[in-house]
Amino acid sequence: DFLFKIILVGDAGVGKSCLLLRFSDDIFSETYISTIGVDFKIRTIELDGKIIKLNMWDTAGQDRFKTITTQFYRGASGILLVYDVTDMTSFENLKTWRQEIDKYADEKCIRMIVGNKADLTSKRVVDYKTAKAFADQYGFDYTETSAKTAANVEQTFMTMTAVLKTQ
Ligand code: GDP
Ligand code: MG
Repeated sequence: DFLFKIILVGDAGVGKSCLLLRFSDDIFSETYISTIGVDFKIRTIELDGKIIKLNMWDTAGQDRFKTITTQFYRGASGILLVYDVTDMTSFENLKTWRQEIDKYADEKCIRMIVGNKADLTSKRVVDYKTAKAFADQYGFDYTETSAKTAANVEQTFMTMTAVLKTQ
């Protein structure tokens, strides 16, 4: 059987906890719940007849340029770097997050940038092409989600898992 550690990083408020909750328990809450320390969720899935256990970690990330401990990155097979498509600052900060990932993550780690809150179309400030170009430049996959409507959340984690499984 397979066991993968997947971590979620990105600015506070972009929807990391909501994405995790949507994927692990299929629920969404409008109420902001500030993560204290590290959140941890497990979900077991079946892919091509194989049982795969996903250990998923989410940090508080209160400080924009906070240095995340090496322990958080240790053993991670996949990284979801999340920003909010309605928040330009969270997109601009991807540069800093990418540097941190380069510093702490394993070279073989699968990296994906996730543009969350895609349901808020009228508030959107980062367009798909710009984000995709940024992701391509740094060797990340790119995907967009809505933890609120559940759009593409399952697919994002499943795509990540499928890549990890074939490694
Ligand atoms: P975190 O700090 O990155 O863990 O962010 P949270 O998961 O706590 O979410 C921050 C806020 O954004 C909360 O008020 C959520 O309800 C809201 N939120 C998260 N994901 C979405 C989404 O996909 N769409 C919308 N409209 N709101 C979202
Ligand atoms: Mg959180």
